[in-house]
Amino acid sequence: MSYLVLARKYRPKDFDELVGQEHISEVLKNAIEKNRIAHAYIFSGTRGTGKTTTARIFTKALNCVDRKASQPCGKCPNCKEIADGNSIDVQEIDGASNRGIEEIRSLRENVQYAPSSSKYKVYIIDEAHQITDAAFNALLKTLEEPPEHVIFILATTDPQKIPLTILSRCQRFKFRPLSAVEISTHLEKLSKLEKFDIDKSALQLIAQISNGSLRDSLSMLDQVISFSPDDKITDKTVRELIGLSPLEMVSSIVDLILAKDAKGILEKIAGIAAEGYDFLQIGRDTREYFRKLVFTNYIDLEKNAPESILPDEMESLKKHKGMFQDNILLRNLHLANRCIEEMRFSDNTRLIFELYALKLMQQTAGIDELIDKLSAMEKNLGGPSGPADSQPSGDTPPAVKNPGTGHSIAGSDAPAYKTAENTAKNAPAQP
Ligand SMILES: [Zn+2]
Repeated sequence: MSYLVLARKYRPKDFDELVGQEHISEVLKNAIEKNRIAHAYIFSGTRGTGKTTTARIFTKALNCVDRKASQPCGKCPNCKEIADGNSIDVQEIDGASNRGIEEIRSLRENVQYAPSSSKYKVYIIDEAHQITDAAFNALLKTLEEPPEHVIFILATTDPQKIPLTILSRCQRFKFRPLSAVEISTHLEKLSKLEKFDIDKSALQLIAQISNGSLRDSLSMLDQVISFSPDDKITDKTVRELIGLSPLEMVSSIVDLILAKDAKGILEKIAGIAAEGYDFLQIGRDTREYFRKLVFTNYIDLEKNAPESILPDEMESLKKHKGMFQDNILLRNLHLANRCIEEMRFSDNTRLIFELYALKLMQQTAGIDELIDKLSAMEKNLGGPSGPADSQPSGDTPPAVKNPGTGHSIAGSDAPAYKTAENTAKNAPAQP
């Protein structure tokens, strides 16, 4: 028997089998039960998150002759034909290769005829953002006055490229990228069913690499299994196949930033380039890492967000927690975000990433060195003159050199700005 790839073998057959898009399946199920069906839908979201699969399940449910509540039976001729891609009333159109006005015109003519054996004629247009403006214009007329029996489902990774006139006539559903934990849980389930001899850590690594795309994670699992069909698969096997994981790359870059190791940073980036990684994605991973690092200052992530962070990442975050000053960390997050904005408009994403990695290092180093210098200065001058607990406000102003006298001004001798402010605040208001 030939091997059926996992993504096809375990393609969800009804709404309950969909992974991670409950917010969408609930609304669609409701629409079916209440018979409130729109004539046009837009399913948007990153690749491999279930847009086409959901469109097929929805179509089956609409045309099923033996539907149970909102779920398609999966057994009637309509369900079977749709699952096999043979239904003459359901057309799946690749928007990338049928993007011109001629194709849309013939679609418009076809729309007029009633369905042959189903309730609805459904047109699922994949990669809909590829359709030309002229073709969208031709489609608009049909969307304005659609025949009763016709439903359009436009699937796209780039909804902002679809004209507003079209968008405003469609019900929109946003498919979200899946968290690494959701993906690894799903992979674990399938691995058990398939009796794969594979470590949990290997599945977690695959989940991490697939960036929210369930389909990508399944192809990677296929690849890992065929790479090493007889041995137990560990995270080491996965690493042999794909090289460094994004987390390891980001985590080691953060190490190098903290160590102020410019040479190390540039060498690491050269290594990433040699492995053929996409720098825009590494940039996004870096930004996400700094974001989580900022969160660790305010939230116990282990307790509050265990579903979105894998054990390896948690370990790394714990290691870096508190290593950056709060304000530096916020600025680093801001810089990482700007890095991605600049990459979008650049023909050399590696260069932009190098530039920002060094900027992050300089900024971190800059403040650290300043603090080092200040504390060295303080040491030379014999430290603060007054003990901190003698301050009524509890705030000890930092020791700074008075440029006029050359003496250290600190503790109770310093101009106690905060204390003065507090005093003013506490003083009775002047009449
Ligand atoms: Zn059916």
